[in-house]
Amino acid sequence: MLAEIITIGDELLIGQVVDTNSAFMAKQLNKIGVSVFQITSIQDDKDHILQALHDAESRVDIVILTGGLGPTKDDITKKTIAQFFDDTLERDPEVLKNIENLWKNHVKGKLLQVNKDQALVPTKAKVLMNKLGTAPGMWFEKGDKVFVSLPGVPYEMKALMEHQVIPKVKAKYNCPYILHKTLLVYGLGESALAEKIEAWEDALPKHIKLAYLPSLGKMRLRLSTKGFDVKKVQLEVQEQIDSLLPLIKDEFAGFEEEEGSVEIVIAKQLVKLGKTLAIAESCTGGAVAERFTAHSGASNFFNGGVVTYATASKTDVLAVPKDIIDTYSVVSSQVAEAMASNARHLFKSDYALATTGNAGPTKGDSEAEIGTVFIAIATKDAVYSEQFNFGNHRIKVINKAVNKALEMLLK
Ligand code: ATP
Ligand code: MG
Repeated sequence: MLAEIITIGDELLIGQVVDTNSAFMAKQLNKIGVSVFQITSIQDDKDHILQALHDAESRVDIVILTGGLGPTKDDITKKTIAQFFDDTLERDPEVLKNIENLWKNHVKGKLLQVNKDQALVPTKAKVLMNKLGTAPGMWFEKGDKVFVSLPGVPYEMKALMEHQVIPKVKAKYNCPYILHKTLLVYGLGESALAEKIEAWEDALPKHIKLAYLPSLGKMRLRLSTKGFDVKKVQLEVQEQIDSLLPLIKDEFAGFEEEEGSVEIVIAKQLVKLGKTLAIAESCTGGAVAERFTAHSGASNFFNGGVVTYATASKTDVLAVPKDIIDTYSVVSSQVAEAMASNARHLFKSDYALATTGNAGPTKGDSEAEIGTVFIAIATKDAVYSEQFNFGNHRIKVINKAVNKALEMLLK
């Protein structure tokens, strides 16, 4: 079963909005055995939309569009789809009721004609009721092909996709089971990892695909396969994982599908041990703390953190002795360790992590080479640190430092 995704909106083509919708949709479709053949982003333009619909129809079974369903003149998807299906628009009383309810309960104010007009739906469409917004989703069938139009607003699209589109696609088609298992691997670059698992990779059956997904300081290794016999597919992949894991036992952090990310692995471990964490950051500017607090329940283990960015704040807030800074420089193992120890006391936590470094592009308050980062961890009994150089690109240095910090916490 093949699908194509078409995201519509001028904002996507001028780089103002990043198309995150198609990634979400592709993931959802994959989970139920639908392969995505192509993803296309196009302008809010009638001819372009018609062309994209014709092209997609010639290659795939399921075409999903997002965007351009709003009430304003620039949103023309609905009219264009009606033209594609040689259809007309009619007011749908249920959709109108939904719009009126949204207005009454959330928007307040006067319901304008343009908003009421969002209840106009092509007669050939089955409405996918959008409880979160005024633009309904629409499901069309043409022969054995399906066309779906969804609003562009990500949370509206997601709800419609999860609760309506996916169940309907599943009910209509007999899809194979697709299995992805993604290993989170820390502390090994792409080439080093490839070398380490070369013999295993060479012996991998052809129908199990392997993909390396490197990003600054961390790796994801994805195994994918599909089939109609769910048990057999799971067993086959599990066998491969069982022979792979001993090769990377020191670097393996968990499975993305189960854990989500390494910070969740760390969080679970801390909660299980009943231990707490504090974070003191300089060059990472709060990015390590953000990785933890992005997930609900962080307060169960994360006591708090500080961003002591200017040199003086390390003394004022974290009581790092000024003579340590003067003697060893603000970017030094001594300062990182003092930050970690003092943050541990400040937040009354079991562990604390600290970062200090020079992310560039120019030398700041220290003489340290650009890209130098010290990361320290303090426990009740000890404090230790490591020195790194993450290169000369600011964003890269920061991201690598964050991932290395997480890697150190994991160990
Ligand atoms: P609405 O009824 O809310 O206007 P709509 O279908 O017209 O829905 P758009 O106007 O195209 O939606 O987009 C609304 C907002 O949703 C955009 O401003 C943008 O921020 C976001 N958005 C649209 N398409 C995408 C996409 N492909 N990926 C991520 N965000 C998107
Ligand atoms: Mg739009």
